Amino acid sequence: MQEAPTRAAERVSLIPVLNDNYVFVLHGDGPGPAAVVDPAVAEPVAAWLEQRGLELTAILHTHHHHDHIGGAPDLLARWPGAQVIASAADRARIPHQTQGVAGGDRLTVLGRAVEVLEVPGHTAHHIAFYLPPQGEGGGELFCGDTLFAGGCGRLFEGTPEQMHHSLGLLAQLPAATRVWCAHEYTEGNLRWAAAQQPSDGPIAQRLEAVRARRAEGQPTIPSSIGLERATNLFVRAADAAELRRHRGSKDLWRG
Ligand code: ZN
Ligand code: FE
Repeated sequence: MQEAPTRAAERVSLIPVLNDNYVFVLHGDGPGPAAVVDPAVAEPVAAWLEQRGLELTAILHTHHHHDHIGGAPDLLARWPGAQVIASAADRARIPHQTQGVAGGDRLTVLGRAVEVLEVPGHTAHHIAFYLPPQGEGGGELFCGDTLFAGGCGRLFEGTPEQMHHSLGLLAQLPAATRVWCAHEYTEGNLRWAAAQQPSDGPIAQRLEAVRARRAEGQPTIPSSIGLERATNLFVRAADAAELRRHRGSKDLWRG
């Protein structure tokens, strides 16, 4: 598929694009190969890679929505050899994929082990990518629009039961896992959560920290699985019925 680099890619960088999307780049120190996750657009991503002497060798897609695949055709025109990893079940909606995958698959990207997790709910064939840690510290989770910092994706094609199951699967990952979700929705999510649970200390603390980050124009991503277990009402939901109530309340909320 691809040549294994001499050293595994250890860094994840984030590129803010459009209103609130993030494109993630997996790369090593200095010039070399790179992989991108959910390129919403091409131009800022190509410029970011070129400035650093990075060659695109892989694109990973979590789901078919335009703000997660829109940049792929132009990136592939610039780097035609890049492989495109996406849900095989969504081949019709992600036709440029070169390597279709399904839940449970294990791959190697830039020398890093990657586990594919099936996480339906936002869309029928949404997948997530988990990169176990290399040595000390947490691994990396690219979860698209399934788990957000303090929230979860809208249920466009799935049921509350599916989303409850998907969030439960992600919440079982190690607490130190970094959560790279694809949108900067954190402040709104936590304002909603604090309105639901006004006496919840961890949520109030997190909202304050997030407000401070945003006031400085800084991203709130990555989050961590431990932080989501503690402060995300969708992750904390005891069952699908509670998740459904939260989802309905969040969709109606104008705070
Ligand atoms: Zn989406
Ligand atoms: Fe999205």
